[in-house]
Amino acid sequence: MKILLVNPITHSLYGKGYKDVPSLSRALIRKLIEFPRPVSLFILSVLTPKKHEVKIIEGEPDEIDYDIDVDLVGISFTTRLAPLAYQIADRFRERGIKVVVGGWHPSALPEEALKHADSVVIGEGEYIWKDILNDLEKNKLKKFYMQSKPTDPHDIPSLIPIFKDLKVPIGIQATRGCPYGCEFCAVTHMLHRRVFRTRPVEHVVDEIEKLPQNVFIFLDNSLTISPEYTKKLFREIISRGINKKFTCFGNIDTLGRDIELLSLACKAGCVAWLVGFESVSQASLNWVKKKTNIVKNYKSAVSKIHDHGMYVIGNFMFGFDYDTTHVFDETIDMIKQCEIDVPDIMILTPLPGTPLFERLENEGRILTYDWSRYNFEDVVFQPKNMSAEDLLYNSMRVFKEIYSVGNIISRVQKAMKYGLYKFIDVAIRNFYLSKRRYQEY
Ligand code: SF4
Repeated sequence: MKILLVNPITHSLYGKGYKDVPSLSRALIRKLIEFPRPVSLFILSVLTPKKHEVKIIEGEPDEIDYDIDVDLVGISFTTRLAPLAYQIADRFRERGIKVVVGGWHPSALPEEALKHADSVVIGEGEYIWKDILNDLEKNKLKKFYMQSKPTDPHDIPSLIPIFKDLKVPIGIQATRGCPYGCEFCAVTHMLHRRVFRTRPVEHVVDEIEKLPQNVFIFLDNSLTISPEYTKKLFREIISRGINKKFTCFGNIDTLGRDIELLSLACKAGCVAWLVGFESVSQASLNWVKKKTNIVKNYKSAVSKIHDHGMYVIGNFMFGFDYDTTHVFDETIDMIKQCEIDVPDIMILTPLPGTPLFERLENEGRILTYDWSRYNFEDVVFQPKNMSAEDLLYNSMRVFKEIYSVGNIISRVQKAMKYGLYKFIDVAIRNFYLSKRRYQEY
């Protein structure tokens, strides 16, 4: 069989006007801010028996060739990409081609996804992919496929076999799952994803060694869930003398207290930690059960990361039920006090499948089911202590203040202390975010 795996994308990720600039400029933009692709489709490609042909493509719906000769199309997507993914699925199905969908959004809303697909994979897919292919060959596709247990990390295949054909950057996955259960987080509420698992360090470092990129991101939800595992991983990278640079996600509580982890991270090539600060209001953090974050410890934790020569990409969100209008200026102050190198300002977005979505829906506070608006920049629910307009206006106001020319220059200048590479990295990320967020409002 011929199998086409599709990664739907939106060019709005590259900023307003991306599609209108000359192709040379587009290529330059993509070179500078290329996003690592999720590994799920690459894993399926490796797991596909050799008797089948697999091709992976990506694009917006009008960029896809629907006349391609295929027997099965697989599409994986998150909530904001659902409308695009459904368009792609519908176009293939109009031609009589079978479509299987999976990923966060179909896992959260399988019945909705089934309106646009022949089968829906709920949760992880390693143990059922071959069943799907066998069922299709017998023309007996089931509506839903679901693993009875989480994938054993030893069964996550190495992606090294597909590295020679890679045309886009990909990330590295060392672990799966997150045990914390923050109520707004789609990751942790997907089937089996509450179970934290670690891949064998040797497998992960083999992949890093062979990866045809000198810069990569660890796609793990958080590399601080098991500091001992992560230290082993970093030690192995160091002992093999791998000279690559990477960023990774981590929780601020562990980063603020584990000096050994920070030291090993920097030696292993970590240039930056991506940290979900989420809020400067402890009441808001408690409301969404973000137990790893203690606001009064933010400043000292960030200082420790800086002291170890790494910079911080910090995410803040507005719209929690305990947020009052004071939270906006308090966040500006916190970002400046902590000297967050690349601050990101988002609006709380209740993703389907999360307890937050369920709660707001039960309270009649979901304002729209247009998933394209679930982009962390729009207001899709009724906030508690302010109007939706005030939430959007103030989020944009904070963003504009934080990304004023003066503030960008100040952050970039401070990044000179990290050395040339990180200085340029911080500059590009600041410039990119300044052009990327809230361009459509
Ligand atoms: S710590 Fe991060 S990945 Fe884990 S549940 Fe919370 S937001 Fe999600």
